[in-house]
Amino acid sequence: MSVLGLMIGGEERAASNGGTFERRNPISSEVATTAAAATTDDAIAAVDAAAAAFASWSITSPRERRAILSKAADVLQAKANDFVAAMGAEIGATAGWAMFNVGLASDMLREAAALTTQIAGEVIPSNRPGSMAMAVRQPAGVVLSIAPWNAPVILGVRSLATPLACGNTVVMKTSEICPRTHRLIVEALNEAGLPKGVLNAVSNAPETAAEIVETLIAQPAVRRVNFTGSTRVGRIIAESAGHHLKPALMELGGKAPFVVLDDADIDAAVAAAAFGAYMNQGQICMSTERIVVDDKIADAFVAKLTEKAKSLKAGDPIAGKTPLGCVVDPTAANRIGQLVKDAVDKGAVMTAGGAINGTIVQATVLDRVRSSMRIYAEESFGPVVTVVRVGSVDEAVRVANDTEYGLSAAVFGRDVNRALAVARRIESGICHVNGPTVHDEAQMPFGGVKASGYGRFGGKAGIAEFTDLRWITIQDGPIHYPI
Ligand code: NAD
Repeated sequence: MSVLGLMIGGEERAASNGGTFERRNPISSEVATTAAAATTDDAIAAVDAAAAAFASWSITSPRERRAILSKAADVLQAKANDFVAAMGAEIGATAGWAMFNVGLASDMLREAAALTTQIAGEVIPSNRPGSMAMAVRQPAGVVLSIAPWNAPVILGVRSLATPLACGNTVVMKTSEICPRTHRLIVEALNEAGLPKGVLNAVSNAPETAAEIVETLIAQPAVRRVNFTGSTRVGRIIAESAGHHLKPALMELGGKAPFVVLDDADIDAAVAAAAFGAYMNQGQICMSTERIVVDDKIADAFVAKLTEKAKSLKAGDPIAGKTPLGCVVDPTAANRIGQLVKDAVDKGAVMTAGGAINGTIVQATVLDRVRSSMRIYAEESFGPVVTVVRVGSVDEAVRVANDTEYGLSAAVFGRDVNRALAVARRIESGICHVNGPTVHDEAQMPFGGVKASGYGRFGGKAGIAEFTDLRWITIQDGPIHYPI
């Protein structure tokens, strides 16, 4: 199989020292992709190419950028089969998950295309006679984009669509776990007509990630950083961005609470909880991890959730005969197994699942979870959901907020005003009343609070992240100076 090169200045090239790394398939362990392992010289070359392209890209008309981004949405969709193959090989994704990724990512490109005419400023009344004062948004420069493997097309496209729409150029540091999938995104945009150097891709060996990322952030031409990934790595990147005074958008881990009030429609809540907990084997930042359920309905809820979980079998994703596939690698399966064992050893009641065979982890329900168990606080990022039983609405809110994370949340209750009041007390960037925790749309302000990060992708909120707001005045008439 050919080696996937770096994409710098519109040209594919090998790493400057010829280095490569491999990504293996999570089911067969066969080599899925061999990719160039960039050196720090390559990383600098990618930033230089992006910086050179900025001069002309930053002054393109909205019409030009809109046309390319709209076309990229079509090209991306036309490559759907390539994405299905790459995601299956690199991360063991089901075809359904890959197709969903391509669909939402295409939406994100179309939304970014529409944003090109929404990058508006304002005229602000000035105290100085004859002064017209404007607040003007301008592209910031080179944006460093880092996205993870779990929803690779959605999050990869999200990391660069709004930056490009705003007139920035981009260096994408692709994930070591899905370099081919991420590179397909870059190819789609280049085929749609992006000028050379506007979008560059750098892949790296896992052991050099820290050095490559630090080198990229430190380049003076890099003016924004966006990172989607774990809170652990997010802290390292935020510290580096802070050191170099680069604004950063951080989309980090989650431990989404799902509150079931005593008047909830139990069937609707179970359907949403199971979808949120097990879609893509729980490997979504918004995955439902903590169900907080009122004692009065807990037995009925857990019985129905258990029945639903048992019906969701996990199996080989490429064979495609089961609703759930595999987790990303044996290390993840092992981590999930340890979390479940710790909880059961400390008294949690496992009502469904528990079986792990290689990277195939069955949908698991842990009831009567307590704060002494690791899984109460740690993100499982697997097909495991915990249930905490509570005696009141206030206790439900306390438990829902008893986490370092704050990305997505959900509240179920038939009295919508009461459920909304609970939603407003939950510390999260996103909360859905009578809907699942897993929900993303291109135009929504997506992002978290607390250890889930800061900044917002999506819609107009994204424009603020990837532009500089400048104060510009025009003086008409004399100015009185005191000296
Ligand atoms: P991860 O944090 O392991 O990210 C890996 C990335 O960080 C890679 O690009 C790697 O090269 C880089 N990296 C690793 N060590 C580094 C270091 N020392 N310095 C600098 N960079 C380094 O995350 P992952 O496993 O790819 O993704 C899973 C995580 O992402 C989960 O925690 C999940 O909740 C989170 N996530 C968040 C969102 C969101 O929108 N908030 C979306 C999806 C996933």
